Amino acid sequence: MIDSTFRQVCAAAVQKYGADAQLCQIQEEAAELIAAISHFRRGRSDSRAKLLEELADMEIMLEQARVIFGDDAVTTAATPKIERLCDRLGIEDSAG
Ligand SMILES: [Mg+2]
Repeated sequence: MIDSTFRQVCAAAVQKYGADAQLCQIQEEAAELIAAISHFRRGRSDSRAKLLEELADMEIMLEQARVIFGDDAVTTAATPKIERLCDRLGIEDSAG
């Protein structure tokens, strides 16, 4: 659901609550995702649904991080990492 509505809603959240509050929320959601992954890996009942919920929360917060720090800045940071991963996997990097 990465579409213009998703981006607009994420930008509106940063506008309304502010960057610092949303960075704090990212920390909280990251902690919830870490716990959900642990529960899923241990086979706790209903852990898959909780993991998916926390993944969705994190996806929303990461989009807000892109709003806060700038889409281009995040992409610039990600590009060499993707290139390095391509090298490790033996995948020809079509963008590079
Ligand atoms: Mg959550």
